[in-house]
Amino acid sequence: MRKIEHIGIAVKNLKTSNELFEKLFGNPPYKQESVESEGVNTSFFMNGPNKIELLEATNPESPIAKFLEKKGEGIHHIAFDVENITTEIQRLKAEGFIVLNEIPKKGADNKLVVFLHPKSTNGVLIELCQEIH
Ligand code: ZN
Repeated sequence: MRKIEHIGIAVKNLKTSNELFEKLFGNPPYKQESVESEGVNTSFFMNGPNKIELLEATNPESPIAKFLEKKGEGIHHIAFDVENITTEIQRLKAEGFIVLNEIPKKGADNKLVVFLHPKSTNGVLIELCQEIH
């Protein structure tokens, strides 16, 4: 695992949150993208070297809708950049972590992603992402 790639924040309303984070960082999101398979609309901000992803649910079955119901708005996941996602999945499984999707999915912002179950990571949802070249 290399650096933190981004931090994901669950929000109820992407439009008002975009405005809020634009004020916070002093610049608008550089990208907005829907990931239909995950039931989310996302937007991405860069602030210096740091990337923040905002996530809004597009339907009540979306993992983000369920998260908001249980915990309310806030930090949803921490994503780490990996060089080879397949190797990392094998390594982490061997270490006893629970991988939510063993076959990497196409995520937002041109990435292959997998998630580790928070049950196996002290309550923190961890995303691994590998840039698609
Ligand atoms: Zn993410």
